Amino acid sequence: MSKYNYLCPKCGGHEFNIEYTAWAKLTGNEGLEGTDHVEPEEGGVEYDDDTEAGCVVGDWRGTLGDARIAAELAAKPKLKLIDMAKLPKGTMVETGDHVTGEHVYEVMMTHRDGTLGCWNVSHQTIHRHTSELRIAKQKEFTYWDGGDCPVPEGVRVEVALRDGLPIFVVETHEFRWTHFGTPDDIIGYRIVGVAKGWTDDPELAK
Ligand SMILES: [Zn+2]
Repeated sequence: MSKYNYLCPKCGGHEFNIEYTAWAKLTGNEGLEGTDHVEPEEGGVEYDDDTEAGCVVGDWRGTLGDARIAAELAAKPKLKLIDMAKLPKGTMVETGDHVTGEHVYEVMMTHRDGTLGCWNVSHQTIHRHTSELRIAKQKEFTYWDGGDCPVPEGVRVEVALRDGLPIFVVETHEFRWTHFGTPDDIIGYRIVGVAKGWTDDPELAK
């Protein structure tokens, strides 16, 4: 069987014993019966997802559908997780429920246990773990006086430059945040989302 389209969900191995009586041939090798023991050419045959299989290394048994999904997940590039605890004070964040404005918070401080102390819209202090919070598009621009990049890597921002050129979008660490006193100094920024290859959802970074 084609080795790398399948992966053992338990040990990550690529070798399986297939229940030859159960496999269904979807392409190629016309005329063979389900009970035939064949070694298909690489990529020549797809097995039905319901085909039962067992890992030759360990004790995993399941369907080739599970092994195919395991291979797809392993091949998917992982997203990097934004360090939400490094968001500057005053950043607007929100929880998963985007329907009402009640779930938008303003970051006040980071606690050692990974929670952020925030204001809610009624200016009550609430505490939320960073894993619960998502980056909200900021309404206001923040004045920038120069220095190290103020927001964590993986955040997409709009920046305004000293020379008055139109505001444009950059990914945080693609730009110079220190001031040289030149027309291309950043003098204001606004968080607008998440940069390509990054996420603010820990579940998507797994
Ligand atoms: Zn295995």
